[in-house]
Amino acid sequence: MTYSDAISSEALAGLRRRYRLERERRVRPDGTRQYLSADAEFGFYDEDPYATRTGERDPLRDHVDVAVVGGGFGGILAGARLRQQGVERIRVVEKGGDFGGTWYWNRYPGIHCDVESHVYLPLLDETGYVPEWKYAPGEEIRRHAVRIAEKFDLYADALFSTSVTSLAWDDTTQSWIVATDRGDAFRATYVVTATGTLTELKLPGIPGIEDFRGHTFHTSRWDYGYTGGTPDGGLTGLADRRVGVVGTGATGVQVIPKLAEDAGHVYVFQRTPSTVDVRANRRTTARDVGADHDGWARERRDNFLQIVSGESVERDLVADQWTAGAGLLEKLLPSFRRPSDRQGFEAAYEIADAEKMNAIRARVEHVVADADTAERLKPWYRYACKRPTFSDAYLQAFNRDNVTLVDTADTHGIERMTEHGVVVGDTEYQLDCLVFATGFSVGVSGVHSGKLSVSGRDGVRLLDALKQRGPRSLHGLTRNGFPNLIQLGAAQSASSVNFTHVLDEHAVHAAALVAAAEARGAVVEPSREAEDAWLAVLSDGAPDHEWFHAECTPGYYNGEGRGRPNGPTAYPHGAAAFHDLLTRWRATSMSDALAVRRPS
Ligand code: NDP
Repeated sequence: MTYSDAISSEALAGLRRRYRLERERRVRPDGTRQYLSADAEFGFYDEDPYATRTGERDPLRDHVDVAVVGGGFGGILAGARLRQQGVERIRVVEKGGDFGGTWYWNRYPGIHCDVESHVYLPLLDETGYVPEWKYAPGEEIRRHAVRIAEKFDLYADALFSTSVTSLAWDDTTQSWIVATDRGDAFRATYVVTATGTLTELKLPGIPGIEDFRGHTFHTSRWDYGYTGGTPDGGLTGLADRRVGVVGTGATGVQVIPKLAEDAGHVYVFQRTPSTVDVRANRRTTARDVGADHDGWARERRDNFLQIVSGESVERDLVADQWTAGAGLLEKLLPSFRRPSDRQGFEAAYEIADAEKMNAIRARVEHVVADADTAERLKPWYRYACKRPTFSDAYLQAFNRDNVTLVDTADTHGIERMTEHGVVVGDTEYQLDCLVFATGFSVGVSGVHSGKLSVSGRDGVRLLDALKQRGPRSLHGLTRNGFPNLIQLGAAQSASSVNFTHVLDEHAVHAAALVAAAEARGAVVEPSREAEDAWLAVLSDGAPDHEWFHAECTPGYYNGEGRGRPNGPTAYPHGAAAFHDLLTRWRATSMSDALAVRRPS
C-alpha cells in the first residue's frame, strides 16, 4: 500500500510553514542545558542493576601490551582484531559488569536493533553464528558480544565494574599509565579508546523531579526487580500500576508497546513524535540470508554500507526500510558530498522528503483509531531531523484503552513534577512509576566527559589541545603529541547507521597500526603535516548541512535546535569510500602515522 500523493508547490509551501511553526513551538532557550546528568543526588539513576562481577580485588600495577578503554562493540572488536595481529596482553577496562556496552546497559522490554542483525552483528563469518531474526532482540546481540569476547580470549585480562579515570603518557618508558576508579595504575604500551557516543544517560530538568515519591528509573537501567518480566515482556509487577513514560524517541517507540501489554495504565508524555515506519520483523534462516559460503556476512555488510552511503550496487541484499530510503537518506546523512547544483538538489530533496513524510503521517492516520490522538502522533519536520524509527506495535498501542497520549509540546515538555506525579497544563497525572526514555548526552563520552583525563607528550592535556588547536587528527584515529593512542569513533572519520561496521573498520586499522609500530620499533603518532593533510581532505567537498539542521525541530542531532558544530567533522564522501581509503592507505602510507621511539 502506498500512502503518498503527488506534491504541488502550494502543498510544499504549506509544509514549509508548518515545519517552521512546529520548530518555533519547540525550541527552548536553555537548549542542552535543559537536561540533568545522573550524578550527585541523581547518581542512583546510573547504578548498574546487572553487575555480577563486582567483588573486591587488589589494584593492578603490571604492564600490558594494549589497554582498551570500553568493552562495547568498539572495544571488543579492537580486542579481536589485535588478537588476530598476534597481540598477547590485551586489557579491556569496562564500567559495566560484562562486555556489551550499549547492549549491556540497555535491556528494556522490547529492545531490538533496527539495523538488520545480519549486517549489524560483527564477526559473523569468524564466529560461525547466524542470527535468528531480521532485527535481533537486545539479548541476542549482548550474547554475541560475549561470544566474540570468549572466542578471542578477552576475559583473561579484562577489568569490569571499573572506569578509567586518567591516561598519562610516560616518555621515559614510552608507555601509558592507566589509572582507574578501583585504584589501578598499570602501564600499557598502547591505548585504544572505544568509549562510545551515547553513553551518559540524561534526565529532563523538570522542576520538582526530586519530589516524586513513586518509583522511577531510566530505560538504560531497567528495574526488573520492580516491573517483573524480561526484555520479552511479562511485566507482571505493573499489572495494577499507573506508569508514565517520558520520551518517544527510538527507545520510547520500542518500550511503550511492551508497557501497554502489561501495565494497569500507561501515560505517554510526548513532546515531539517520532517518524514510525514499517518494521516487518521476522524469523530468518541461514538460507534466507545466503549464509552458505565463507565471507557471506562481509558481503552483505559491505552491500548495505554501499547502499546507505549512496553508492550504486547491482543487488540490494538487505532490502529493508533503510535501503529503500537510501535515496533520501543519502542526501541527509552527514556523509554526503556537496551538490554541484545546490538549488536543484534542494528542490529534488524537498519533494522526496515530503513524499516520505506524507506517507509516514498517512500511516498514523491509517493505524490510530482516535482522530485527535492520530493528529498528535503525526511528525511535522523533515525526515531524519530525528532518528527514524520502525515499529508495527507502537502506533497500534494507542488503540488500547489503557494507553493515554499526553501531548506536552505546548509547554516544552512536562511542566513540573509533584510527590504524586506529573503536571501538564491543568492536569496532574498521578503515577506509581515514571520511566525516563529521555536518551543520552552527546559529545560527553570518554575524553570529552571530563571524567577521563588524557595527557600526552610533555604532559599536554588532550582537552586543552582540542581547545587551543581545534580538533586535529589523522583519520580521526591518531593524534600528534599523543603517541600510541588510538581513538575509535566517528569524529573526523565517517559514520553510518550500521555503526558496528564503522567500528570494525576502525578496529582493523588500529590493530594494523599497532602491528606496524611493533614491527618497525616505532610509536603510532602522525606528524602535524599528516594531520594538516587530513584536515584538508575533510574540508574539500564537505557537505553543508547547516541549512538542513537549522530548520529541524530540536533534538540531539542539531544541538537542541542550535544547528551543527562548525568545522569539518566527517569525511565528505561517505563511510564506504572512507573504508576503501583506509585500506589503500595501509598498503602505501603507513609510515605517515608512525614516529621514532624516543625514550628520554
Ligand atoms: P532520544 O534522545 O532520541 O529521545 C529522547 C526523548 O525524550 C525524545 O522524545 C524527547 O523529546 C524526550 N524528552 C526529553 N526531555 C523531555 C521533557 N522534558 N518532556 C517530554 N519529553 C522529553 O533518546 P532514545 O533513547 O530514544 O534514543 C537515543 C539513540 O539511541 C537513538 O537515536 C539511536 O541512535 C539509539 N537507539 C537505537 C535503537 C536501535 O534500534 N538501533 C533503539 C533505541 C535507541 P524531543 O524529541 O522533543 O526532544
